[in-house]
Order: sequence, then structure tokens, then C-alpha cells
Amino acid sequence: MPTATIREAYVEASSFLGKLGVAEAASCVELLLQHLLGCTRTKLLFRFQEQFPVELAESWRQLVERKAAGEPVQYIIGEQDFYGLPFAVSPAVLIPRPETELLVEALLHEGTRLFPLGAPLLADVGTGSGVIPVTIAHARLAWRVAASDISAAALEMARVNAQRHGVAARVEWLEGDLLEPFIQRGIAPDILVSNPPYIPDGDLPALMPEVRLFEPHTALFGGVEGLDLYRRMISQLPQLPRIPTVVGFEVGIRQAEAVAAMLGAAADWDEIRFVPDLQGINRHVLAIRESSG
Ligand code: GLN
Repeated sequence: MPTATIREAYVEASSFLGKLGVAEAASCVELLLQHLLGCTRTKLLFRFQEQFPVELAESWRQLVERKAAGEPVQYIIGEQDFYGLPFAVSPAVLIPRPETELLVEALLHEGTRLFPLGAPLLADVGTGSGVIPVTIAHARLAWRVAASDISAAALEMARVNAQRHGVAARVEWLEGDLLEPFIQRGIAPDILVSNPPYIPDGDLPALMPEVRLFEPHTALFGGVEGLDLYRRMISQLPQLPRIPTVVGFEVGIRQAEAVAAMLGAAADWDEIRFVPDLQGINRHVLAIRESSG
């Protein structure tokens, strides 16, 4: 698509993708242009009147075509921001979602409150791109952090992100199934966190194509009710050297009560509460033992 100015390329691609029904077409196009031109959003706006670099026309056409085919913009540009930091993502990992930032925030708060003098050990199960442990290690220099994933490719991506944000030496990466790597090594996390796959298998056809066709299914689906991974993690809890002081799970829509009930049946907690997301849906379940900190 030969174009005169960067603005024209922007307008043309936005309307092309908008007509195809691409969600938030204009902001996708901004991200794609930033990626192509290697500049920030502010810089991009300043460059709007410039000639579109002719040598980039073919690359630009390919980027817009990938978006037109439904690929998430984050996989095309290889990046998603989380808690104010840029994270590398690839189709090997789930794209981090903004609601998970609220889980991180709740855990930073509870950890600081429950361990005012010491440094808790936080373990993230099914870490994917590593957003949870990397953000937490970045925000709390004294905390010790470990993370597991069953996917070696995901752990590779998570390591890249740890390196990028200067916390590589402070996060331990363990390949394995759910809590198994921690149990095997006798690791006793004070704070256990997980945002596991929780979409009910039967919801597959109803998912947006962007998700269904591009994101890794092992990171999405959690059995018939979507609760399989919580059930398995909760059944593994007693095999840890001790029950964590805090367990924090992200859950799917209408799963909070069921997950809270499972946690309540598995151990003695002083409190089990929900963290609502910005739409008021209970997105996270926190189980806390006050006495043990
Ligand atoms: N823990 C990662 C995240 O929060 C991956 C989650 C997943 O793959 N289910 O984004």
C-alpha cells in the first residue's frame, strides 16, 4: 500500500482493519507503527507529517496483513506492558492481562503487611511470560522469588524478561507440573500464586478467534468446569514442607466461590477473600493465615 505520509499510512490501515471488524483498530495500528519505526507513541505523533519511509512499505504491508488475519498485536510486535514494564511475549505464552496486575498488587500489599521484617519467598505456578515473578522481584528487592512452568519454551521467555528487567539473579526457574518442582526440592513458599489455565474446555468455540487461534491452549483450558488446575494444586498443598501463609489465585468468571470452598476445605485459614476486577467480577481468591508470618 503506497502512501505519502505516516499519517496517511495510519489512517489507511486503521480504516482497513476497522472495516474488517478488528477491535481497537486504531490503537493496534499505532502499536504496529511504533514497532515498525522503532519509536514511542509521542515520537510517532510528532512524525505524522513525515514521508512514510519507502523502504519499509513492504514490512508495513506484512504487519497490517498479520493483524488482518486476526493475530494479536502483542504477538506481532512481540511485546505487552504489565505493571508499567514491557514484557516480551511469543505464541509460546499467554498474553498477560491487565486484571493480573491487581493480583500482583494484592500480593505485594499482603506480603509487606505479613512479613514486615523478613523477606518472604514467593512462588508463582505456571508463570508463562514470567510477568508475576519478574514484576514482584522488581518491586520488592528483598523478596526471594521462584517460578514454575511445565513448558520449557515459556520458561525461556520468562528468563528473557527477568534479564531485561535486571532480576535474573533473583528468580529461580523450575520446569515441571504445578507444585511438583517445589515439592521435589523441599521448597516452602510463604506466598504461593498462580494464574492457571481456567477456561472450561467447552467454551472453546465461543472464544474470540484472536484467543482461540493464536494463544497456547495449554495456557487457556482447565477441564470441564475450568477448575482442574486449582483442584490439583490444592491437593498438592499438603505435600509442601508447610502450608503457605498466603495463597493467591486468579480465577475465571463465576469460579471464585468454588475455588474458595476448595481452599477452605484443604487447610485452616484466618481469611479467604476475593479481589474484584475493574468490572466488579471476583477475579482473585486470597487465602491468608495471619498467625504464621
Ligand atoms: N502467569 C502468567 C500470566 O499471568 C501465565 C498465565 C497462564 O498461562 N495461564 O500471564
